[in-house]
Amino acid sequence: SEETLVLIKPDGVARGLTGQILARIEQKGYELVDIRKLTPSRDVLAQHYAEHEGKPFYEPLVEFMMSGDVVAVRVAGNRVIEGFRSLAGATEPTTAAPGTIRGDLGRDWGLKVQQNLVHGSDSPESAARELALWFD
Ligand code: ATP
Repeated sequence: SEETLVLIKPDGVARGLTGQILARIEQKGYELVDIRKLTPSRDVLAQHYAEHEGKPFYEPLVEFMMSGDVVAVRVAGNRVIEGFRSLAGATEPTTAAPGTIRGDLGRDWGLKVQQNLVHGSDSPESAARELALWFD
């Protein structure tokens, strides 16, 4: 079966939503294979977000992601990459569909970066790269 990297971002951890978010992933039927809590370094984030370098939200995004603990999860299941992105909902929590993690638990906080609780890999290539980055 397939694997993806899920990150519970600092807003999710700080708000005490780690358990609820993990529960939603398990309730959907996916397996939590490995989990670790850490405050990521700028170096790891620069690699993780390399595709966004130079965009206006890049620096606020990196600063936000370094602002506290993140929970990194290795999640497995058939079509889990697509399935978790569906479970997470659209990038903007304000308009993410109710029933999704971002739609139910998130909102706009008026900041330069979308604080949207979670990250999920967007392709098999990204998942392999991101799992190696966060777990090896
Ligand atoms: P999705 O792909 O579901 O939209 P993502 O996390 O993969 O979510 P990316 O486009 O990779 O989204 O952007 C990475 C992160 O950067 C987002 O999750 C969000 O926190 C932030 N972000 C993205 N676009 C913007 C934006 N226009 N303004 C502010 N922050 C943004």
